[in-house]
Parts: sequence; C-alpha cells; structure tokens
Amino acid sequence: MPDKVTDVIEELALANRILAHEGVLDAFGHVSLRHPADPGRYLLSRSRSPALVEPDDILEFTLDSEPTRPPKVQLYSERVIHGCIYQARPDVIAVCHHHAPAIMPFAVAGKPVVPVFHLGATMGEDVPFWDQHDEFGDTNLLVVKPEEGRSLARALGRHSAVLMDRHGATVVGGGLKELVSRAIFMCQNAEYQMRALTLGVPQPLHRGEIKLAGSINLQPNVVTRTWEYWTMRLEAAGAMPPRRTATKAARRPVPKPSRVTPRERRKGRRR
Ligand SMILES: [Zn+2]
Repeated sequence: MPDKVTDVIEELALANRILAHEGVLDAFGHVSLRHPADPGRYLLSRSRSPALVEPDDILEFTLDSEPTRPPKVQLYSERVIHGCIYQARPDVIAVCHHHAPAIMPFAVAGKPVVPVFHLGATMGEDVPFWDQHDEFGDTNLLVVKPEEGRSLARALGRHSAVLMDRHGATVVGGGLKELVSRAIFMCQNAEYQMRALTLGVPQPLHRGEIKLAGSINLQPNVVTRTWEYWTMRLEAAGAMPPRRTATKAARRPVPKPSRVTPRERRKGRRR
C-alpha cells in the first residue's frame, strides 16, 4: 500500500525529471521538498543528474543539510541552499536551484528578469540578485558553506526567486507543483523578455496585474493542470521515473517531527 511519504518521494522524482525535460535543470541543479511529516527535515536526491533521478535516490536531510542516515552515496555539494532557505522561510515547501540557459544571460549581465507575460507573474514583481563575491570574495562559486547558504537566503528574503550572479537562480514554492510551475514559467518569461528586446523595449506587467495574474496562475486547479501536461510530455518521451521499490519504502520509517522552537512556531503562524 503506498503511504504519503512514498507518494511525495515519487512526486519529487517526477519533479526532477519534469524540470529537466522542460529545460530548467540539466546535468546539474537540484530540487527538494520539505518532509511532509516533519518540517524540520527535507527530501533531496543523492548527487545525480535530475533527468535520471529515481524515488530510491531520494534521501532525508536535517535543516542543517546533514543526512539523517550515514550516506553510502555521493551527496549534492550545494544542499545548504535548500536547508538554509527552509530554516529562514517556514512557508517554503519546495526549492529548486538551477542554471537554466534561459536565465543565465540575466545572471551574467546583472539585468533583472521582470514579468513580461501573464504566466511570468508567478515569479512575483521583483527577483533580487545575490553576488557570492560581495561577502565571500573569490570562491569556486558553489554554495557549500552554511554561511553562504544563509547569505543567499537573506538575499531571497520574502521573494519567490533569487538570481545568483554568474551562477544561476534559486526558486521557491509553497508546494512542489507550485514550484515546478514557477520555475518553468520564469524561464519562459526570461526567453520572451530576451526575444522581445530584439523588437523593442518590453513592457513589463503592471504591479496590479502581477499580483492578480500571479495568484490566479498558482491556484491548485492551474498547477494541477500544468503538472498533468508536463507529466504527459515526459511520458511521451519515455522518461518517466520508476516506482519506489517496496523494500526501500518498508525500511524507511516516518520520522517523529523534530522539535520546533516556539519562535519558529510563531513565525510559521504569521506566514
Ligand atoms: Zn549551482
């Protein structure tokens, strides 16, 4: 019998492959999900290209980005991106870090991505920038230290996405399907914005339009429809992930929720 954790692990594997198939993730990049039974943990694949991720690759991590079981496999080096954002944002349920070709010109040129069509409104009015060099000087540009992850989470602030100078972007969502929609539409928006520049100066959506279009495009019926569409495309390409193996499901007990401090609880209630 499938349980809730097995269901979300299978959905997370599917999200990896959808985001790869739609050109957001490539050999690199990753997508995570807050644990459905324990907000003090999150789920993320072992180090593997997202197009290949299977449910059995998904591991559990604390919000300090430590695996909850001694790992026998290689882990993503940039997982602090996920843990630090989950710590800073109790409202965030899913995170995707990527280097999509559509957004890279903006991350390289330091030019803002602004909503230029209605579905682009899902990324919100502003996408802030974060330059790792500002605070940490010369690095290999990977976000691997907790202080680097915290700095990125501060730059993200209350926004839905942050552009990382000369590196990529990180996108967050209040649910996995919402995140997938936002990440894909943000890339489509960046492509349209770039193409429109060859015709003239693109007119961004008005502030009120961003608010109205942004919220309607994240309604459950809309994100369910887009999820179904992108799943169908993945299926047609013969790239669906396998089901989780039964032994793996049986071995992994649902964890007891980790302790949430009163401060975190108050913050969560406010949001
Ligand atoms: Zn990266």
